[in-house]
Amino acid sequence: MIPVTDLKQWAYCPRVVYYHRLMPGAGVMTHKMREAISAQEWLEHLELRRSLKKYGFEHANRRFGVWLSDPDLDLSGRVDMLLQTPDSATVVDFKLTSGPPGDNHRMQLAGYALLVHHVLHLPVTTAFLLRIPDSTLFEIPIAPVLLERALHAIRQVRVMAESQILPDRAPNRPKCADCEYANFCADIW
Ligand code: SF4
Repeated sequence: MIPVTDLKQWAYCPRVVYYHRLMPGAGVMTHKMREAISAQEWLEHLELRRSLKKYGFEHANRRFGVWLSDPDLDLSGRVDMLLQTPDSATVVDFKLTSGPPGDNHRMQLAGYALLVHHVLHLPVTTAFLLRIPDSTLFEIPIAPVLLERALHAIRQVRVMAESQILPDRAPNRPKCADCEYANFCADIW
């Protein structure tokens, strides 16, 4: 199945998904990626003691690191924090980033929203990105158009994996500086 993180990477640069799927293990984990993993573990402990009021899900059941997968969607993923009531849900993604949420983060949250809807049969109309360095919370509306884009990205990833054709490089070249596959894209340097 396609991991939700591939949807995020597809929005960032389709080539990252190509390398990840067709050359597994080839990427070099960057310092930023290692920092993000340990920061996430630390934040889980912190969030456990915090109120859910800021999410508008004060009495929800809170779970961390929830794995969801759906064969019909051909999608799977691990939700950092899932807040669930009997009739609705929201997902929270923890990010070690300094900037505002990007299109890639929105795609990732849309992927989780699709999974929650298909697996748990609960609507997700709003999701959240919690920026780790300053604990800023960003509310991301999960509009139908965003869900449709995520479904389209799933189809595109599937086509790319079957054709094994290298996609175009990232349109925004500064992205390449932080990329784990920088050594594989000889045409950008
Ligand atoms: S180095 Fe740049 S073009 Fe190559 S995969 Fe990374 S982001 Fe994409």
